[in-house]
Amino acid sequence: MTEPLSRCCYCGVTSDWEEAFVDASTFRNGPGKACVTCKAYRDKFQGFYVNVAITSIVFLVIGYHTTGSAIGAVAFALIAYVAAYAAIALHELAHAAAATLVGVGVPVFSIGGGRQVRVSRTAARWLLLGFTPSEGLIVLSYPSRNGYRMKSAFISAAGPLFNLACAGAVYAWLKQYEGALPTYPELAAQLFVIFNVLLGVANLLPFQASTPYGVMSSDGRSILEAFAMTDEQVDEAVGQTLFVVAYFEYLFGSKAAVVEMVEPVIESGGADIAMKILASAAYAETGNLDKGIRLCRAALEVDVLDRGQRAALLNNLAYALQFKETPDALDEAEQLSSEAYSLCPMALAIRSTRALVLVATDREREALALTRDRRFKIEPKPTQAKVLCTQATAYAKLGEMERAAESLAAATRLAPDSDRVARTRAELAEQAAA
Ligand SMILES: [Zn+2]
Ligand SMILES: [Zn+2]
Repeated sequence: MTEPLSRCCYCGVTSDWEEAFVDASTFRNGPGKACVTCKAYRDKFQGFYVNVAITSIVFLVIGYHTTGSAIGAVAFALIAYVAAYAAIALHELAHAAAATLVGVGVPVFSIGGGRQVRVSRTAARWLLLGFTPSEGLIVLSYPSRNGYRMKSAFISAAGPLFNLACAGAVYAWLKQYEGALPTYPELAAQLFVIFNVLLGVANLLPFQASTPYGVMSSDGRSILEAFAMTDEQVDEAVGQTLFVVAYFEYLFGSKAAVVEMVEPVIESGGADIAMKILASAAYAETGNLDKGIRLCRAALEVDVLDRGQRAALLNNLAYALQFKETPDALDEAEQLSSEAYSLCPMALAIRSTRALVLVATDREREALALTRDRRFKIEPKPTQAKVLCTQATAYAKLGEMERAAESLAAATRLAPDSDRVARTRAELAEQAAA
C-alpha cells in the first residue's frame, strides 16, 4: 500500500480509506482525525449532553432576566423547554397530517434530538422520541409518482405554515386577555408564540444543513427543489421510498417483513446495490441462507462496487455462511469477515459479524474484545442485543457461565422478543445441563 494511513484519535483504528474519517482537530489536542463510528458515538452521547446544557443555560439566563428570581428562572426554563418541544411536535404533526391527506405514508415519525428514549410501533409507524427540543424528522413513503411534485411541496409547506397559524391563533388569544392572565400561563403562551414564529420562518427560508441523517434541505428549499426535479429524479425519489421503509423495518422491526418487502424487487432484477445489501442481510437473518449467499456472490461478481459496498457484501456473505456451521463454510466466513474488516475496520456491523465468526472458530478472547465496544450503543436495541448474545456465547464457551448469564440478561432487557436472544438462551441452558 502506498496510500497514507489515517488514524482515529479516539479508537486508534487505522485505514487508508480516507472517506471513513472526519476532521476532529481541537485547540487542546491539535490536528486529528476521527473514524466515522467514533464521530457518530461522540455526537450522539456527548453531543447530547452539550446540547441539553447549552439550551438549559440559555433558558435559565433569559428566565432570570425576565423574572428576577432563581425559581422564576427554573420555571421559565422548564416552560421554554416544553414550548419549544410543542412547536417542533406541531411542525412534524402538520407534515404528517398533510402527507396522510394526500395519500402519502409516514412510516417514521421522530421528534426530539439526542438519545431516543422510546421507540414504539403504532399502525405500521415508527415513533421515536428524543429528549432535546432540537429536531424533528418524518420519513415519507410515496405510493406512486403521480402528482409527486405538488404533494411534496404541499407536505413541505404544511409544517412551517401550521407553526405560523398556531402562533397567530395564540397571539390573538393573548391580545384578548391582555393583562388578565396569571404570570406563568401568560409566559408559556408568549414563548409558544415565539418558538412557533421562529420555527415557521426559519423553515421557510431555503437552505441546507448537515444533520445526523446527512445533508437535509429546509422545508422552503424542499418546496423549490420539488418543482425543479426532472422526471428521472422523481422516479428515483419514489423508488427510494421502498428502500427507506425497508431499512427502518430492518433496524427496528421484523426481518421477515423486510424480506417480504424487498423480495419482489430482487426477483425482478431491478434492485440497486443498496437494496441488495439490505436484502442479503435480511435473508441471512431469517434463515434464507442460500438466497442470501447467492445474492451476495452474484453482486460481488457482477456489480460495480465502492469499498463500503464491497465490505458490506463480504460481511453479509460471511454472516450467512457462519450459520451453515460446516467446516468449509466457517473457513470461508473467517476469510471473508477478515477481508471485510480490513477494508472497513470502523463499521460496527462488520465488527459484530467478525466477533460472531471468531466465536465460531474458537477465538473467544478476540471476539470478546470486539463485543466490549461501547460504541455499539449507537445501534438500535435489537442490534445491541445481538452483540450481547455473541458475548454470552463466547463467555459460555470459555466456561464463564455467570458472565454469560449477565450478557444474556442484558440482551433480554434490550430485545425481549428477539429470536436470537431466545436461541442463545436455549444454547446456554443446553450447555448448563450438559
Ligand atoms: Zn475511531
Ligand atoms: Zn419541516
